[in-house]
Amino acid sequence: MNRPPFLVDVSDLLGRDVPPRDILIEVTVDWKLEMSRILADPPFIADLAIGPIPGGILVRGEVCYSVEHTCRRCLATFVDDGCDPITGLFEMDPGEDTYPILGTSIDLEPFLRDETLLGLPLLPICSESCEGLVSTAETDLNTDPSGDTNDARSPFAVLRDLLPPED
Ligand SMILES: [Zn+2]
Repeated sequence: MNRPPFLVDVSDLLGRDVPPRDILIEVTVDWKLEMSRILADPPFIADLAIGPIPGGILVRGEVCYSVEHTCRRCLATFVDDGCDPITGLFEMDPGEDTYPILGTSIDLEPFLRDETLLGLPLLPICSESCEGLVSTAETDLNTDPSGDTNDARSPFAVLRDLLPPED
C-alpha cells in the first residue's frame, strides 16, 4: 500500500538524540493563489532534513518548483522557476507558527504548501517595463474603474508631450 508522499513517520526521531534524517519528496501538487499556480510538470521537489529538537521536530531544506503567474498588468501568463529555502517546526502542542505532530507522524503538505505559496509575489508582473494593455483594442483603459492613470497612459500621449507644438 502506498503511503501519501507527505506523511512522514518520525517515531525514530521523537524524543531521541539522533542526527537529522534526509528525505526527498518529488510529487505533483495542485497549489494555487489567485494569480499564480504551481505547475504539475516538472514535479514539485522538497529536499529536506528532518531532525529532533526538544519538544518537536525541525524540518529544513529547500523546495524547487515551477510556477505559472498571470501578469497583473497585461494578463499574460509567464512561467518562473527556482528553489527557496524552507524551515518549519512541528510540535505535539502546536502554536500559531508551528505545525502539529500527529501521533508519531508529521504531515508535510500544509507546511510545504503554506511556505511555498507565502514566498510567491501577491501581484506578479511579467517585467518591470510591462506597459499593460494600453495597445490592445479589446481593452479600453479609459473606462477602467480602478482609475490607475499611470498604467493607463498611452505611450503615444507621452510622445505627444515631448514634441514641440506645431505652428
Ligand atoms: Zn505584463
